[in-house]
Amino acid sequence: MSARRQWVFSNPCGCPFGVMEAGRIDSEAVAFFEFYEVARDVRKALDRGVTAELMDHGRYVSDVYPRMLSSYVCPHEGAKAGAR
Ligand SMILES: [Zn+2]
Repeated sequence: MSARRQWVFSNPCGCPFGVMEAGRIDSEAVAFFEFYEVARDVRKALDRGVTAELMDHGRYVSDVYPRMLSSYVCPHEGAKAGAR
C-alpha cells in the first residue's frame, strides 16, 4: 500500500466540499459511487458539475484542508455562470 491518498470532491467553482480516503480506489467513477452511495445522487452531482480529484495526503493538507474549514468562505460567489 502506498502513501495515503484522498479523493477530493469540489463544487463547479473549484472549492472543495468533501473528502474521502482513497484506499484502493483509483477510478473517478468508483469514487463518486463510494462517496454518494446512490446512483441518483451521483447523477445529480455530475449534473451540477461536481468534480473529483485524487491527491496525496500532503497536497490535501496544504491545498484543500484550509478550504474545508467552516470559517472558509467561497470567493467565487457571483462568478458562477448564470448566477446573478
Ligand atoms: Zn468557490
